[in-house]
Amino acid sequence: MDDMKAGGRGEKVAELASMLKASRYTVALTGAGMDTESNIPDFRSKEGWWRNFDPRRVASVEALENNYPLFHEFYVMRLKLLEGVVPHPGHYVLAELEKRGMLRSIATQNVSGLHALAGSQRVYELHGNIRTSRCNSCGREADQGDFLAGKSCPFCGKRALRPNVVLFGETLPPAVWEAAVADIERCELLLVIGTSLEVYPVNQLPLLAGGKTVLINYEDRGASYPFALRLIGRAGEILTELKEHL
Ligand SMILES: [Zn+2]
Repeated sequence: MDDMKAGGRGEKVAELASMLKASRYTVALTGAGMDTESNIPDFRSKEGWWRNFDPRRVASVEALENNYPLFHEFYVMRLKLLEGVVPHPGHYVLAELEKRGMLRSIATQNVSGLHALAGSQRVYELHGNIRTSRCNSCGREADQGDFLAGKSCPFCGKRALRPNVVLFGETLPPAVWEAAVADIERCELLLVIGTSLEVYPVNQLPLLAGGKTVLINYEDRGASYPFALRLIGRAGEILTELKEHL
């Protein structure tokens, strides 16, 4: 319960600041909780909030191949929800930590591209990026406008344009995954921010950390994980507080 009191959290933030200063190799892992503070809904969290479909069935290879109109409508809706969305202070703190040489990289489950928008350079987008598109049939890069307009691929003619995200039923991009794992295995400190630790295989990453792990999350999750520190609250506020200690 101390987590809920400002004092208890303040001490923990100070402790995290000390850990961060002592670490020669710090990496962050971020999830949906980071994005929801920028008002992007976590589409996994509420089953059936969109037209009574389970998003996990719509954001899938199965839907892409067998129900393209539904797949397309879902992603057009998700892209519309991103219009006008901007990074929050927490994104900017992580970007600044990298600039100061205090953060090596960010591995993220988020497809919004907000870390890059905030200025972070080394970002491993484990689930891809929704702001760019490709053809699922011939693999060529596609124009996002063509995808939004529901056009066919200008190269192969198939109606198979899709965002560059990892769909349910697909594996994570191997090169990105391996680079993230290498950094996490090497790290002395891993900040696990805003992830429910429910989505495999990303939820395995904290267990691979070479050093200490710290949870920063709105809810106390991952009871079985050996976090050295658990900071419960909004990531934007906690990271802003952290910055004041550095
Ligand atoms: Zn094509």
